[in-house]
Amino acid sequence: MSRLDDIGSADGWRCWLCDEPVDPTMSVNDPRGPSLDTRITKAKAKAKGAPPERLAHRSCNTGKGATAPEISWPDHLFVVDPAPIIASTGRLERKGGREVMARCPDQADADAAAAWLVDRLSRLHPGWAVTTEIDATAHWPAVRAAAVCHGSQFPDPDTLGRLTDQEHRRLWGCDRYYRAYSLVNGGRAVERDLFEGVG
Ligand SMILES: [Zn+2]
Repeated sequence: MSRLDDIGSADGWRCWLCDEPVDPTMSVNDPRGPSLDTRITKAKAKAKGAPPERLAHRSCNTGKGATAPEISWPDHLFVVDPAPIIASTGRLERKGGREVMARCPDQADADAAAAWLVDRLSRLHPGWAVTTEIDATAHWPAVRAAAVCHGSQFPDPDTLGRLTDQEHRRLWGCDRYYRAYSLVNGGRAVERDLFEGVG
């Protein structure tokens, strides 16, 4: 296997910049053909050792940092004040913490933007754990009891009383959390501890 093959498969034959597929059989001289890009960020520039290489279309390649890398937000998302993705994730890489990535008009738009971002970052930073799912099945009665305490937040407070135990179990059994930027876990394994790494 050549180096291009190695890095191409590690990146799932997708361009790290435009996120579109790269055809491994296409000529390396074709603008849509595969090439290796050197990912140079401020964090990497200071770090010792060779900067990581990523798969890019030849036409997307930054030429070892000669062109500033840019990742676009997709047109279908309704985001206000979108943050520059490379600059924001670069800061997270250097300093950790949190970044505001965008504002959205409503919850549905925010969910769509979060889902896209989590998926996109799973390829941009394969080592980051970007989502957390907690299996709370064993604790569903406690979760239900907690939810009942906030019954006034449900559009119809009687709904909870009408559900069977089986339905309650399904409703409260699995919770999803987005911990959008976490350096804990370091892989895509399902996390079991919501507070892992929180001191
Ligand atoms: Zn590309």
